[in-house]
Amino acid sequence: MKTKIILTAFVLAFTVACKNEKKSKEVEVEETVITDGEDTLVEETVTPVENNEKHEWSYEGENGTQNWHKTHQDCGGDHQSPIDIVTEEAEKADLGEPHPSYKEETMIHNVINNGHSVQFNFEPGDHHIFNDVRYNLKQIHFHEPSEHTINGVRYPMVIHLVHKSEDGQILVFAVMAKEGEGSAPFNFLESYLPIKKGETKKVGKNFNLPSILPKDKGYYYYVGSLTTPPCSEGVNWIVFKNPITVSKEQIEKMHQSLPDHNYRPAQPLNGRKVLMTE
Ligand SMILES: [Zn+2]
Repeated sequence: MKTKIILTAFVLAFTVACKNEKKSKEVEVEETVITDGEDTLVEETVTPVENNEKHEWSYEGENGTQNWHKTHQDCGGDHQSPIDIVTEEAEKADLGEPHPSYKEETMIHNVINNGHSVQFNFEPGDHHIFNDVRYNLKQIHFHEPSEHTINGVRYPMVIHLVHKSEDGQILVFAVMAKEGEGSAPFNFLESYLPIKKGETKKVGKNFNLPSILPKDKGYYYYVGSLTTPPCSEGVNWIVFKNPITVSKEQIEKMHQSLPDHNYRPAQPLNGRKVLMTE
């Protein structure tokens, strides 16, 4: 009997010790700046101790795109982005109003160079309603050249406008830019360039966001992923069919603050359907 009680006490003590250890791992809360291009947001992230080390990634060399899946498992998933969009294979669908509900004046908080892109962070306020879900605009950033290709065409630049819903769903607009006439909104954004890697500049000014979108707002839609580690899937992509134009000088100026070729190559569709507006 005595032995049984001692044994029971020992098992209980062991269980409590295990639980405490597990708990201490689970509740280590860290303020992390996720510098993944698509979703650089300051968030409270619960990180298990053993996964605490930061995995560097880049666009070339040992930590380049082809090796991302080794340190970020999701990058090896089946529903990744970007993709090559083939118009002939896209299905026409009633995708609803393509006009974002942006105000003409929206406040840019600051601009950062996170080493992977130049990113303008927005004050809360602007949003886009898609499939009855409200997505709040968080930030815009740039890739040079574009990540998605349309019928095999890679544009010299793309702007990604990243939105997030209250429950954490992500919606990204991709606005292609081709070389041509200069863009006035670009002049405003580029007045904060050059910006060095790791540098942040305060903006605190209004920006006419609708002016950076193409006039014809027809678009392609499919579900993919963040195009940078951690490559999380379930991202709603709206890729505008028509590009805007920016001048050669504007492309060159942006290029000076970006890493060379900060794009991920096209990923396999793996049976996914691309829809498009009629
Ligand atoms: Zn991006």
